[in-house]
Amino acid sequence: MGTSGIVDALGDVLGSDHVLTDPPLTQAYTVDWTRRWHGDALAVVRPADTAQVSAVVRACAAAGVPVVPQGGNTGLVGGSVPGRHPGSLGRPVVLSTRRLTRLDPVDTTSGQVTAGAGVTLGDVQRHASAAGWEYGVDLAARDSATIGGTVATNAGGIRVIAHGMTRSQVAGIEAVLPDGRVVEHLSGLAKDNTGYDIAGLLTGSEGTLGVITAVRLRLHRPHRASSVALVGVSSYDEALALMHDAVIPGATLLAAEVIDRTGMELASAVSGLAWPLERSHPLVLLLEIADGGEGDGFDPGVLGDRDVVLGLDATERARLWSFRELQSEAFSSLATRESTDAAHKLDVSVPLPRLARLADELRRRMEASPDVIAFGVFGHLGDGNIHVEIVGPAADDEQVDRLVLDAVAAEGGSISAEHGIGRAKAHLLGLSRSPEEIAAMRAIKDAWDPAGLMNPGALFP
Ligand SMILES: Cc1cc2nc3c(=O)[nH]c(=O)nc-3n(C[C@H](O)[C@H](O)[C@H](O)COP(=O)(O)OP(=O)(O)OC[C@H]3O[C@@H](n4cnc5c(N)ncnc54)[C@H](O)[C@@H]3O)c2cc1C
Repeated sequence: MGTSGIVDALGDVLGSDHVLTDPPLTQAYTVDWTRRWHGDALAVVRPADTAQVSAVVRACAAAGVPVVPQGGNTGLVGGSVPGRHPGSLGRPVVLSTRRLTRLDPVDTTSGQVTAGAGVTLGDVQRHASAAGWEYGVDLAARDSATIGGTVATNAGGIRVIAHGMTRSQVAGIEAVLPDGRVVEHLSGLAKDNTGYDIAGLLTGSEGTLGVITAVRLRLHRPHRASSVALVGVSSYDEALALMHDAVIPGATLLAAEVIDRTGMELASAVSGLAWPLERSHPLVLLLEIADGGEGDGFDPGVLGDRDVVLGLDATERARLWSFRELQSEAFSSLATRESTDAAHKLDVSVPLPRLARLADELRRRMEASPDVIAFGVFGHLGDGNIHVEIVGPAADDEQVDRLVLDAVAAEGGSISAEHGIGRAKAHLLGLSRSPEEIAAMRAIKDAWDPAGLMNPGALFP
């Protein structure tokens, strides 16, 4: 079947309104959020249910056409869009899951809900909350990122310290395999030792093993009202110590984030928000806690003499959080202002005791790089996960990425803490995984997808 043949076949399955081929219509699906990754698609398809996903994948498999699954397209490693150069398999079909919007009533007995892959994280959070429950994953892209995308990337976010990564929330899955067959295991049993964990394999698979169509999610009972503190500190070691010392025993730490001076200044400029503290500091620590009893849950003996601001009501909490949530956008805006292609965004983790040393080493490396106009670090302190933002080098200049990732590997860290490998780091997987581990992963990929049609170029080079 030629390329027009497969486009016609997809039109027969979905109706021509949901098979896009005109560049003005497909562009939103072929360029990623960072604007660093883009490529051509044969077509963008928008199936409405699992049966249509299955029919699309089956048709593509029969024609030997690759498929790139895409949710909200907020991924930051180029995995959700076609590669710059189509490989030997040719241009892919981008399969958008955004019309898979099934959202079942919350099962209040088991504390679970089943959501279609295209439901946004924000909609699941609001749906759970309306039923008196809480979904344990949260991140700044909540109103665009989808449940399928967050599961496919095993997203982390700002609540990992309290609830774990997305993997910890997945109780069951429905997916379309690379040959079009559907696997469904959505009963959400707490105990179920009946062989391989298919949901576990698909979690974090980045679209390389199939298309996730629905997920059974674990929910939590909500915490009591929370309090936020923004505290000026001089180093990572000081921030790490405060993360525990500033919180009274019995209170629950919901988030522990850091923002450096550059990021604070950029967020303040982008948002127009007044500087929140009395002074400027090398680092700002954001703590959110709940269940603090009578008081706000912070230890006044520890925070009393510090430059600190507390947010105790929803408006103030949101104001303080916005300095953290605006980070990625603020660096992207700076890149646009400086007329560089795009900000480089790296997402790494190291063991907590090595975080301060890594941060110093990264600063030294960036200050010695002539192309770097601005450099900032922010992220999830409690998880040893920092996001490194670099403005200056061209989008396709990978030298600066390598400077960061080599430093991380030398500290025994991960080159992808939570965003995944995507196309951005596929050729660098060996910095974090051994040849034996990569061979084991490849064996799984080859068994599930022998023709290599699911998201080629992502995860594996
Ligand atoms: C402002 C901002 C803040 C962010 N903060 C965080 C953060 O704190 N923590 C974090 O982990 N991430 C963060 N991200 C990254 C991003 O939001 C996550 O990676 C998210 O999980 C991607 O979801 P998505 O629906 O946009 O997926 P997409 O970007 O569309 O896809 C991501 C990957 O998943 C695959 N995929 C998508 N849907 C499916 C499916 N149904 N079946 C199979 N494969 C699929 C794609 O092929 C691709 O490889 C942030 C992004 C932005 C823009």
